[in-house]
Amino acid sequence: MHVVVLGAGVVGATTAYYLAEAGHEVTVLDRQPDVGLETSFANGGLVTPATSDSWAAPGTPGKILKWLGCDDAPMLLRLRALPGMLRWGVEFLANCRSHRWQANTKATLSLALMSVAELRRLTEAEKLRYDRNPSGLLKLFRDQASMASATRAAAIFRDEGVRAEILAASEAIALEPALAPIADRLSGAVFYPDDESGDAFKFTQGIAGAARARGAHFAFCHAILGFDRQGDRIAAVVTERGPVRGDVYVLALGSHSPRVGRSAGLSLPIYPAKGYSITVDAGGWNKGPRIPVADDGLKAAVTPLGDTLRVAGTVEFAGYDNSLNEARGRMLIQNLAAILPEYPRGKIRHWAGLRPLTPSGRPLIGQTPVRNLFLNTGHGPLGWTLAAGSARLLALIIGGSALPIAAEPFALSG
Ligand SMILES: Cc1cc2nc3c(=O)[nH]c(=O)nc-3n(C[C@H](O)[C@H](O)[C@H](O)COP(=O)(O)OP(=O)(O)OC[C@H]3O[C@@H](n4cnc5c(N)ncnc54)[C@H](O)[C@@H]3O)c2cc1C
Repeated sequence: MHVVVLGAGVVGATTAYYLAEAGHEVTVLDRQPDVGLETSFANGGLVTPATSDSWAAPGTPGKILKWLGCDDAPMLLRLRALPGMLRWGVEFLANCRSHRWQANTKATLSLALMSVAELRRLTEAEKLRYDRNPSGLLKLFRDQASMASATRAAAIFRDEGVRAEILAASEAIALEPALAPIADRLSGAVFYPDDESGDAFKFTQGIAGAARARGAHFAFCHAILGFDRQGDRIAAVVTERGPVRGDVYVLALGSHSPRVGRSAGLSLPIYPAKGYSITVDAGGWNKGPRIPVADDGLKAAVTPLGDTLRVAGTVEFAGYDNSLNEARGRMLIQNLAAILPEYPRGKIRHWAGLRPLTPSGRPLIGQTPVRNLFLNTGHGPLGWTLAAGSARLLALIIGGSALPIAAEPFALSG
């Protein structure tokens, strides 16, 4: 079968690999001149099943209301974005109910665990190099209430087979001495030893290379305008350079999937949740963390990536605007200082990207009502974590093979 994959981010490139591995002819289309140049470019770098808990959680609506209009809030809803996200917002609120949160979290976790196993297999089989760091993730908490809710979340993860160690502040410092300067500000921590980290962009380049070696063809600088739908089938993808035809099509355009999906008659519940990162040169700094650290209160994480520190986080609902906001960029530097007060004063590169967020937090993977159109999109804050598992799952669905986990939670109407 000739499969046309729309999008060459971490999800599209990994999908191309699995499809080529399964023996399909694969063409990948992207408007950029190379792979991974949009949301997969400078994310937090965490491969983290332990962060599978959906953002649509019982406490989230209160936080959003409290922070409404505050430019330096960890989670910011811009009022101008409201008209464009009403329907999505109502669905998001419905998913904040406790039982929905639990079901969403469990479904995403099952995919994340399968994904990490796949990522390890791929890394070894294809000899991929992406500053991988298999040292786990340390989540920090600065007050007793958040420590208590983290302990409850850790119990859910443990029930699903994830190892989680509840640590007192002193134990967290013993594990990661770089945190010693903030010892008196911590209430405790949870250590997830099976999480990993690495540079998602380097991985995307590596997996695209491996896909090419298996015959996949990447067509860059192809801006996609929509689909040519004939009855219940897609006849072609319409690009600025003309139509591209295949037997089967996979929509993997991240936050931009709904726009293109609309031309095929699909209404995809995905909204862009903007986030920021800074990458700080840390070559020669020997006081840096060995383990990535996520600070719950700041909604930010610091990840050692090669000779740099990547600080990523914050959430802003502001529509399709990925421009850099100076105040929010400064906030990440303040967050870094709040976690590692002695951070290296090297060069800092700023970046912003749009997480393709569904109201449930579950990605959309599988068939659509259009017979030869499939989805692999909507991975929100976890696209790097979920990429290998989602790509494998979709390749098996397309091939009609047995599936390693239940795919229903990821179906369009699921
Ligand atoms: C600040 C931040 C931190 C994050 N941290 C983490 C983390 O630590 N761990 C984790 O797992 N995830 C993290 N994420 C989420 C992760 O980065 C995303 O889920 C993931 O990159 C989405 O990948 P994608 O391939 O679906 O989308 P993208 O990478 O955006 O790829 C979509 C592709 O489609 C192309 N495209 C779009 N529209 C068109 C069009 N009309 N025509 C042609 N091409 C088009 C784009 O050029 C792009 O290459 C973070 C995200 C952000 C913003």
